[in-house]
Amino acid sequence: MSPTLISPTVLIVGAGPVGSVLALTLLKNGINVRIVDKEGPQVGQKGLGIQPRTLEMHRFLGTLPDILSIAKKMPICTLYKLPGGTEPLRIFELDPYEEPTPDTPYLNLTMLGQHRQQSILHRHLEKHGCKVEFFSELRSFEQFDGHVLATLVTKDSNGQDIPEIIKVSYLVGTDGAHSTVRKALGLTFLGDVRDDVNMVVGDIEIHGGLDHKSWHNWGEISSKSQLVPSEVDDNVFTFIISGKEIDHAKTASGRDELVKTITSITDRKDIEFGKLVWISNYRPSIRMVNKFGDGRVFVAGDAAHVHSPAGGQGTNSGVQDSFNLGWKLALVLKGFSPPSLLETYTEERLPVIAAMLNKSTLLLNQYFRDGKDWKRGKEFKQLGVNYRGSSALVDETVDLTKDRIQLDPYGITLNGVIHAGDRAPEAPGLQVLHSGESSTATASLFDLFKPDHHTVLIFGSVSNFKEIASELSAYPKTLFKTVFIFPALTTSESEQSASGTQPSGVDLVLRDSNGHAYRAYSSLLGSCNIVIVRPDGVVGAIVGGVAGLRRYVDGVFATVK
Ligand SMILES: Cc1cc2nc3c(=O)[nH]c(=O)nc-3n(C[C@H](O)[C@H](O)[C@H](O)COP(=O)(O)OP(=O)(O)OC[C@H]3O[C@@H](n4cnc5c(N)ncnc54)[C@H](O)[C@@H]3O)c2cc1C
Repeated sequence: MSPTLISPTVLIVGAGPVGSVLALTLLKNGINVRIVDKEGPQVGQKGLGIQPRTLEMHRFLGTLPDILSIAKKMPICTLYKLPGGTEPLRIFELDPYEEPTPDTPYLNLTMLGQHRQQSILHRHLEKHGCKVEFFSELRSFEQFDGHVLATLVTKDSNGQDIPEIIKVSYLVGTDGAHSTVRKALGLTFLGDVRDDVNMVVGDIEIHGGLDHKSWHNWGEISSKSQLVPSEVDDNVFTFIISGKEIDHAKTASGRDELVKTITSITDRKDIEFGKLVWISNYRPSIRMVNKFGDGRVFVAGDAAHVHSPAGGQGTNSGVQDSFNLGWKLALVLKGFSPPSLLETYTEERLPVIAAMLNKSTLLLNQYFRDGKDWKRGKEFKQLGVNYRGSSALVDETVDLTKDRIQLDPYGITLNGVIHAGDRAPEAPGLQVLHSGESSTATASLFDLFKPDHHTVLIFGSVSNFKEIASELSAYPKTLFKTVFIFPALTTSESEQSASGTQPSGVDLVLRDSNGHAYRAYSSLLGSCNIVIVRPDGVVGAIVGGVAGLRRYVDGVFATVK
């Protein structure tokens, strides 16, 4: 059989949230993808909580309005007195509401079933002419010098296999915890199954007796307990049942046993149950790979790391894997970057995921072993996730190799100090003075950050921006958006330049009318006033002039000039 060839292309195996984000990132970069899934569209809410950093990623991908149009705020939790099960014993917030700020517009967990997040992503793929190929399974693959041959299998109407061999440039396994791709690559997946933590999880329709305003809890997690968070509508509620006194296998055997268990734990006879959507008896495994790929094949999401649902990190971490990998893969496929850039995918994500496994496991232990409240730290919002240890960065303000500033790859708080490798803050309300392409009166940094280009922010000093613009003009124009930002109170020099014509080589000239940009990036504004933001919204470089800029671009775009 001769292989189907679409070149350059990436085969994505698994159309869950992680594969779908990768597909969209690549399509936005003009890369052909095929995305297959051995099953149909996923059923079930599972990863209900979308963390703030994931909301930011959706903003950069253009999917945020669709997400926010149906997502809900995190409700309060109600723990009911037993027996009786209707009177609140305690009402508390799992994630207390935080008021957003100009530099962090999304600060709160948002609730949306994973299946809905995924179908929004699939609709966006279709806008780019890419349809998920459901019921198409990856059976095997083989790597060669310049390509990968993959065998996909679909079924005909009689259930007979229809094999197809395809030739692709890269293959990415986003095929979940039991990943065929990870196993075929021979990556290690070390860790434990938590035998002491047994849960029955799933979704069931509830037509009466429980409202949508609260997450409903009964009992003690160590003995027997029941947590019922609801999603947006459809009367579908997720159940998480755990504790030593539960017969987990029996409860998971079907709807009737499930209803009996819930009725017994809650001591409630008034809850009207509808259809059981899905159910699983689940013991969390805590495992991760030793590297995120080999040669032309990579893994992301649950294929690369699994852990307990504590802290709501699974989907959120997986989609960030994809967002980290997507732009790098696109640049390599277009021939703008050397394949070595792809090594930074493992380099950057491995420490982050190792830290996440520790943090979510501590939270799990706190809940299951110590019986403490399931209060989460702010680090679970993922706004402090950083790649400060990465070799792909340039930071002229510090020595990035020093422990002092590397700290925790997962936990750096928003303390106002930015280094290369950190999340690039938002700054809204920037007045547009000159723009080659847009006629909007104001702009916001988050509207400029996109997965298909680097954004070069030049703060304040007119003296070196011509040099910078001239340096960047040697590269293809699509790779960079160059943005010059004057402070709110302009000096005569900047005022004069601001009122003149648009400087050549600069895409956008802005004035920071409300001071948000200069405040958010204030820790940098000494001699290092140039910030290069990567396509994944991470600060790639902080430099003071052409030499530093050259160091960064020569590292990332080594093959272009
Ligand atoms: C009860 C529960 C609550 C959770 N809560 C949260 C939460 O609040 N927040 C959070 O972030 N995470 C949460 N998670 C974790 C989250 O659900 C997972 O991390 C997430 O599903 C991982 O996404 P993925 O795309 O990597 O894998 P999956 O969603 O598992 O998708 C993998 C896909 O690959 C397909 N596939 C597999 N093998 C092949 C093959 N050979 N060929 C083709 N296709 C294949 C599968 O059919 C599947 O559709 C929770 C999980 C559970 C169980």
